[in-house]
Amino acid sequence: MMPPSFDIIAAEALIRGSVFAVLLAGFALAERRWPRRGRTRKLERRRRWVANLGLALADTLVLRLVFPAAAVGAALVAEASGAGLFAAIGLPAWATVPAGFVLLDLAVWAQHLVMHRVPVLWRLHRIHHLDMALDVTSGLRFHPVEILLSMAWKIAVIWLLGVPAIAVLAFEVALNAASLFNHADLNLGATVDRRLARLIATPDWHRVHHSAVRRETDSNYAFFFTLWDRLFGTARPVPAAGHDAMVIGLDDTAAARDGRAGPAALLLRPFMAPPAGASTVNPHKAAAGLPAAPGSDPGTPAQPLRPGGG
Ligand SMILES: [Zn+2]
Repeated sequence: MMPPSFDIIAAEALIRGSVFAVLLAGFALAERRWPRRGRTRKLERRRRWVANLGLALADTLVLRLVFPAAAVGAALVAEASGAGLFAAIGLPAWATVPAGFVLLDLAVWAQHLVMHRVPVLWRLHRIHHLDMALDVTSGLRFHPVEILLSMAWKIAVIWLLGVPAIAVLAFEVALNAASLFNHADLNLGATVDRRLARLIATPDWHRVHHSAVRRETDSNYAFFFTLWDRLFGTARPVPAAGHDAMVIGLDDTAAARDGRAGPAALLLRPFMAPPAGASTVNPHKAAAGLPAAPGSDPGTPAQPLRPGGG
């Protein structure tokens, strides 16, 4: 097994860093020019930006510390070893790049669904959904432990399949770009947004996922291809209240307080006792007749996901 090439890893950091900086600035400018909702008050916006950018900084530091070579480094090791399902089934080399990209997207979709359904993981992912408005910085608002778990999961999938490093690099850039794009408060025009959402997650598509109505929070898990939501019956193209009137955030009494928390408090939140009124009970489990944890409130009545719906 050859050690990963550090030149490619350095290039990976540079490519990802530059694409990220350009897109962050570009979407932030575009949001001002073509806002979709654009009515966050200045004070609220400043508070959200401190939280979101603070978490982004913590994520970057923790990730570089634990996985310095990141997913691309893992792919280089896998490539050198020649292991993985793609090699085992004799998939032609040209096909491993698109297959790797699509299957990594499916893996991230499945991970997102699991973050919503497993209560201990929801504690981590809840930090992301506590944002009370959406803009490009919401795409950076993740708890570092969720980021670490996500990286470990991606590396496992890369090794299992034997995804080539170039496909991993393309996927990581696309995933970053998609997260900034689909959280942006960007008005593409209803028709363009709807047509684009047939293929990839758009701002309107992903906004439904940030609805405070729990059955809407538990839909539209896609970060990139919306195909997975259509295929597995979790697609919900339009929020019940409409895009203008819908409430962003979580429907629990603790969310109003936690949504105003700074980055340090948000980092600690998942490890503390669930606040009274926090939506820590998974509505699907509640529906299956499992007892609710003391002091918790499922918020909205449990409802199964609407089948089909695409
Ligand atoms: Zn989510």
